[in-house]
Amino acid sequence: MPGKINVHMCAACGDESRPEEPWCFKCRRSKPLVRRDKLRVTGDFTVVDWFSSRSSAGLIVEDADGKRYPMYMSDVFAMINGLQLVSRTLEETKKGSAYGWALITKEAV
Ligand SMILES: [Zn+2]
Repeated sequence: MPGKINVHMCAACGDESRPEEPWCFKCRRSKPLVRRDKLRVTGDFTVVDWFSSRSSAGLIVEDADGKRYPMYMSDVFAMINGLQLVSRTLEETKKGSAYGWALITKEAV
């Protein structure tokens, strides 16, 4: 059974499309924190984008209706842990001051 979560929800229009945003731009009023059951969605999801910020990173997945869900990297990693990258070529790269590896071939022929 899902637990509870605190989200900012507009008391006028019910908007909580950005649950971390304490201001409803449509109604021009603050969105108080409300405690409700956590939502769950079941279906097929397609990876369509990724995000990265100072505090988190992960993938954006989209359901069949086009609704997008940000998934945190820790959960993405738990899903793909052990996945083999077969016959790929990596090349050294540098981004800013950080060294890493870039994927050169998507799949060797
Ligand atoms: Zn509103």
